[in-house]
Amino acid sequence: MSDLYKLSGYEVSQKIKNQEISAEEYINLIYERITKIDKQINSFISKNFESTLLKAKQIDKKVKNNEKTGRLLGIPIGIKDNISVLGLKTTCASKILKEYVSPYNATVIDLLEKQDALIIGKMNMDEFGMGSSSELSHYGAVHNPWNIEYVAGGSSGGSAAVVSSLQVPVALGSDTGGSIRCPSSFCSVIGMKPTYGTVSRYGLVSYSNSLEQIGPIARTVYDIVLILNTICGHDLSDDTSINKQFDFTINSIDNILSKNYKIGIISNLIDSSENQVARAINKKIEKLKDYGFNVQETSINYSDFALAAYYIIATAEASSNLSRFDNIRYGFDFSPEGYEWNSYSSHVRSNFGEEVKRRILVGSFVLSAGYYGKYYLKAQKIRNIIKNEFNKLFKLFDILLLPTMPILPFKIGEKGSKPLELYNLDIYTILANLSGIPAISIPAGFSKDGLPIGLQLLSNELNEQKLLDVATFFEKDDKFNEWNPKI
Ligand code: GLN
Repeated sequence: MSDLYKLSGYEVSQKIKNQEISAEEYINLIYERITKIDKQINSFISKNFESTLLKAKQIDKKVKNNEKTGRLLGIPIGIKDNISVLGLKTTCASKILKEYVSPYNATVIDLLEKQDALIIGKMNMDEFGMGSSSELSHYGAVHNPWNIEYVAGGSSGGSAAVVSSLQVPVALGSDTGGSIRCPSSFCSVIGMKPTYGTVSRYGLVSYSNSLEQIGPIARTVYDIVLILNTICGHDLSDDTSINKQFDFTINSIDNILSKNYKIGIISNLIDSSENQVARAINKKIEKLKDYGFNVQETSINYSDFALAAYYIIATAEASSNLSRFDNIRYGFDFSPEGYEWNSYSSHVRSNFGEEVKRRILVGSFVLSAGYYGKYYLKAQKIRNIIKNEFNKLFKLFDILLLPTMPILPFKIGEKGSKPLELYNLDIYTILANLSGIPAISIPAGFSKDGLPIGLQLLSNELNEQKLLDVATFFEKDDKFNEWNPKI
C-alpha cells in the first residue's frame, strides 16, 4: 500500500486539488487501511464509506471542471458519535441510542461539508462522554495505537486513536472536562478545546452544556488551524455562540519569538505528576528557555476543589440533559405493552451503562431540594474562584504550561471498577472547562516503555492564536508530527 495515508489533511487536499491523486483513489486507499487497522483499535462505531465514496467522485468532478473548491477538499474526517450527522446513527456509544438515526446535521457538520470535507464515520467514545479511558462504551474499549493493551484515553478515544493510527488525518471530539485533550495526550496527537462559545454546540448531544465544546484532533498544527477556521463562528441556532470572526494562522518561528510571550509554568501541577510525565514536561520547558522564551514558575490554587466542583456541575447538568432519553422520542426497539408509565420508564432507563446511571443519580441528588445550596451553589462559587485565579494569572502571563494528564496511559481494565480514580485523572484538564478558556494538548515525548505523554497549554479567552504559536514552535523544533506508532 502506498504511504498516502501518512499525509496530513492539508497535504491530501493539495494533492487532490493539483490532481496528483483523485479523491476517489484516496478514499479507497483509506478504506483499505481502516479495514486492516481498526480491527485492533476499535475506533469506529459506524462507517460511512458508500456515501463518502460518492461524494469523493463529485469532488473529483468539481476539480476536473475547475469549479471553486473548499479548503478541506477531500479530507476524510472522523466524527465523535455524540455529534449529529444527517442519516447516520448517533449512538453516543450507548445501548439506549443504538438504533437512533439523526434527522439533521450538527452545525459543525454543515460547515465541514461546505468546505468539501468527507464525513468518513462515527467514532467510539465513553458513553455520553462520561469517562477518561474510552472503555465505557457499549461497543467495547478503544485500544491505544502505541500499545493496544493500553487505553486510548477518553472520552473522545476513538477520535484520537483513529488519527494517531494513521487511519484518517483529522477528527472532531468534544471536551467537557478534558475529553479532547486526554485522549490526544494518551495517543500522541494534537487536540484543542477552543474558548467556550466559539464553536456551535447545535447538534452535539448535551452531557454538560455549560462546560463542553467541540474541537479538532489532528497530527499537525496546520490541520488544527484549518478545522478551527472552518468550525469557529457565530451560529443563530446556539445562543451561547460568540458573534466574532475567526482567522487563525501559522506563524514563522521568528515571528513567534518576536512576540515575547510570557509563559507561566504551573509548577505545583508538574510536581504532583508521575515522575516520567514531569521529566518529559521539564525537558520541554528547557527547550523554551534555550530559545529565549520568557519562562517563569507560578502555581494555581484551589485545583483540588475544582475537581469536586466539576463533578457536581457536570453530573447536575447531565441528570437534566439525559432525562430526554425515555424511549419515546429516541431509543431502541422496546415494546411498552404490559408496562405502566413508571415501570416502563425505569425499565428503559436501566439500559444506560453503570457510569451514566451513577452520574444521573449523583446529579439528581445534588440538585434535590435542601441540598442545592450545599452542593450545586457551592460548586458554582468554586467555579468563580477558579475563573478569578485565571484572571489574575493572565494579567501576568500570556500562556500557562502544565501536563495534560498526571499519569501515563494505563492498561485496559486496570481502573475499571474504580470510578473515583478515573475522576481524579481529570484534575489538570477540567480547569479550562470550568473557566471557559481555550486549551491545547500537544505530544511531549514518551515514557521509557514508549507510552505517550502530552503537554497542555492554556491561554485567556479567545487567545487561541497564542496556543497555536507555541504549539507550532514545538512542532517545528522536534517534529512531533512525524512520530507515528508502528501499526
Ligand atoms: N472525564 C471527564 C468526565 O467524565 C471528562 C469527559 C468529557 O470531557 N466529555 O466527565
